[in-house]
Parts: sequence; C-alpha cells; structure tokens
Amino acid sequence: MIKNSIIILASALLELSFSVITTYAADQNSPEKIKVLLVDGQNNHDWVRCSPVMIDTLNATSRFSIDRATVTKSEIEKFNPDFTDYDVVLSNYNGARWKKETEKAFVKYIKEGGNLVVVHAANNSFPNWKEFNEMIGLGGWGGRNEKDGPYVYWKDGKIVTDNSKGRGGSHGKHWEYKVIVRKKDHPITRGLPIEFLQAKEELYDRLRGPGKNMTILATAFAKGGSERDEPVLMTITYGKGRIFHTVMGHSHTSMKGVAFQETLIRGTEWAATGNVTFSSVSAAELPADRAASRDPEKIKPEN
Ligand code: ZN
Repeated sequence: MIKNSIIILASALLELSFSVITTYAADQNSPEKIKVLLVDGQNNHDWVRCSPVMIDTLNATSRFSIDRATVTKSEIEKFNPDFTDYDVVLSNYNGARWKKETEKAFVKYIKEGGNLVVVHAANNSFPNWKEFNEMIGLGGWGGRNEKDGPYVYWKDGKIVTDNSKGRGGSHGKHWEYKVIVRKKDHPITRGLPIEFLQAKEELYDRLRGPGKNMTILATAFAKGGSERDEPVLMTITYGKGRIFHTVMGHSHTSMKGVAFQETLIRGTEWAATGNVTFSSVSAAELPADRAASRDPEKIKPEN
C-alpha cells in the first residue's frame, strides 16, 4: 500500500516537473530538425496570441521542431529544463527572474555554444541579470539607464555609442516602419531587399546595454520617437553562443508581417546552426511601398 502510494506520488511529481513544457511537432525526433525551446508565459505583451504565430511560422518551414515552456509565475519553481537538449532557445518572455540554478544553467548553456533568439519585449526582461544583458546586447525599460550601457544607433554610415544620460527604451506611435539593411553579406540578410516595410507596430528606440560583440544588421528611423536610425536586427556572440535579437514582433498581427516572419526564420536558423539555408521571399514579396503580411500557412516550406 505504502509502496503504491510512493509510486503514485513519484509519478505525480514527475508529471509536475515536466508540465511546463509542451511539444509542438509530430516528428519531434527527426534528427535533421533544429530543436527549439520557446519560452513564454509572462509578458506585458499578448504572448498567448503571439507565441502560436511564431510556432506556426517556424513549423511552416518544416525545418524546426519546437518545445514550448510556458513559465507563468507559479511555474517558475518548476522551470529547470535541460537547455542542452536544444539547438536554440527562443524567448518571448518578459517576466520575473528564474530560479538561480536555472539561470546558472542557461548562462553555461549559452557560453558553451547554446544559442538564443530574443523577440521584441523579451529584451525588456531581466534588467538586473548582467549575463543576460550581455547576451542581448541592448535592452529597454525596467529602470534601464546610463548605468546599463550606452545608447547604440546608426549615424552617417556608422555605429554610434552614446553615453549620454537617460532612460533606456521608448517608442513612438504604431506605423509601418522602413527597415534598412546595413549589413548585406550576413546569412540572415543575404538576398533580402535593402529596404522593406514591417507591418504596423511600434518601433523600439533608445535601447541601451553593454552592446559588446554585437553586429547591427538592420536599422529603422524612429520618426516621432528618438529621430535616430535605431537597431532593428542584431547578432551578438556570448562565449561560444550565437544570439539573434529582433525588436520586431509587438503583436500577433504584426508577427504576420513578412518582414518579421522572414527574419525570424532566418535568424533562428542562423542562431542554431551559424548558417541560413531558408529563403521564402523575393523582392516582390517584400515590396518597398507597402508592408506585406501573410498567414504562416502561406509560407513555402522550400524556396
Ligand atoms: Zn511592443
């Protein structure tokens, strides 16, 4: 009787410890697929509607298998995944600090060659976690200011690091902003039009952070905001880890912007493998005069 109770208790605990993670692919164990751990569960944005768009977008390519860890406040204690099971962690998380051991394992994972993708408000997260801020390069809100690093933007053909005082993170109104590729020979941007519009959303500006080992791939002019050419797509290296950081992706509707989807797919593949083999757009699909949108199911699995 006692033995049975122990078994029941043990299996209940086992269930609890794994309940945070859901798997989103029928052929999860297919060896050629890139294994992604999407982390969400807390955000000042609508993560409930946003994460499925990202999952559908990546799944449409047939190149990824995705686990989703929904880390609500009450789940934080249970959140301690084996990060090394994944090629890349995709963060749609803007919330409370994780357990010490989880954060330590995450830093070790990235340092030793694990990889990370940071989407929009995920760069608001963890203002006081030093290593995380080094991974993301730049962040916003959460009391960030000059103590956290310079403003970094683009001016007269080069990157400016500006140590002036002030808040980190703001944005103007929602609009279709023009993304300009500044580094054309990177795997993530190769073959994209030099200029294209992202679907209507806010454009982050005045981000600040350590900005070390960071490459700005694309910028957008923050009209009505900082009035500067602000970083939109960035890559960072942290130890042996590759990080792709996109400020796009405010809402589930703007996540249907072709600009968001295409760069998310390319950036996630690059972070995971160091290379990009996927391309679903031609210049016609990212027209210069309007922001194109599409449902994820319209994404072609092969170019
Ligand atoms: Zn937003």
